[in-house]
Amino acid sequence: MSTLEIKDLHVTVDTEDGAKEILKGVTLTIKDGETHAIMGPNGSGKSTLAYSIAGHPKYTVTGGTVTLDGEDVLAMSVDERARAGLFLAMQYPVEVPGVSVANFLRTAKTAIDGEAPKLRTWVKDVNGALERLDLDSTFSQRSVNEGFSGGEKKRHEIAQLELLNPKVAVLDETDSGLDIDALKIVSEGVNRFRGQEGKGVLLITHYTRILRYITPDYVHVFVNGRIAEQGGPELAEQLEAEGYDKYVKAAV
Ligand code: ADP
Ligand code: MG
Ligand code: MG
Repeated sequence: MSTLEIKDLHVTVDTEDGAKEILKGVTLTIKDGETHAIMGPNGSGKSTLAYSIAGHPKYTVTGGTVTLDGEDVLAMSVDERARAGLFLAMQYPVEVPGVSVANFLRTAKTAIDGEAPKLRTWVKDVNGALERLDLDSTFSQRSVNEGFSGGEKKRHEIAQLELLNPKVAVLDETDSGLDIDALKIVSEGVNRFRGQEGKGVLLITHYTRILRYITPDYVHVFVNGRIAEQGGPELAEQLEAEGYDKYVKAAV
């Protein structure tokens, strides 16, 4: 089972002028096996939603609930959230100089499983994941995200997704900065993940392009810290044709 339930979520961020409300009541349920796309203009609060689910300390939840299979996610530390089965691929992955991809992946896997992975199968799993994402074997010796191209960062995020195999994946603009070949490779990785039994995906994107490769079950239009409209995949096509304008105007 894997149901992520977000109810009336309100979140503020600390700015120089004090706390500013960014999320203004977000309600969204991702059930077993569902892929939901969140689409919205820049600055609408999409990344804030992703960070709030993941437990980033900069964001303060002032109201509402987030549960995973009935467990209170907001009461969990960042580590506990990961162990509970939540995964966040960040819009801007951070550099970790001096830590190799191989070490990083192994440390993350050990932290989530509570024990180190068996060396022989693990090396095979890592090499397989890198290969499927068209990353060569020397990639695992590079420092995490240091000097990575945009495409390498995103493919590395999807390698993590494959290896850590969470219940629910929140993918924040996994398509940004990708050329068409990398977009296909990354999309195939996401499709492999969600092809497994009972996995949930929250796919955050600004552009409809990635939705040609990853067909969502539901599309939500996100404007000004709220969901303004919901529908099926056809809603993405409508957005492609009409843009966010009418929703932005209605939200003011
Ligand atoms: P999106 O991902 O949809 O582009 P964000 O969640 O990144 O939107 O940002 C939503 C709003 O919150 C923006 O107005 C942004 O400037 C503001 N915001 C987000 N994070 C911070 C932060 N750490 N400090 C100050 N303002 C922030
Ligand atoms: Mg943005
Ligand atoms: Mg963002």
